[in-house]
Amino acid sequence: MKEVLRTCCVCRKKQNKFHMNRISNQGENVFLDNKKEHGGKATYVCKNNDCLNTLVSKKVLNRVFKHNFNIDVYKKLSEELIDTKY
Ligand SMILES: [Zn+2]
Repeated sequence: MKEVLRTCCVCRKKQNKFHMNRISNQGENVFLDNKKEHGGKATYVCKNNDCLNTLVSKKVLNRVFKHNFNIDVYKKLSEELIDTKY
């Protein structure tokens, strides 16, 4: 099977997409979307503590999606991401 590589928006490493979380953006909201249920803009982040923590603490998604997301949006996302950490 062909490997599908995605670039992490935090560390810029390329990895197989099965080792990454897909995060979708819709309007004012960002959310975990590993089942790819939502179209539109999306980015990928590694499933490790460093990248997930940096994603939230540095608000990396503001830069990626060119939007200032509310802190509550990040809090909710980080709760969703906790389950995916390894
Ligand atoms: Zn990463």
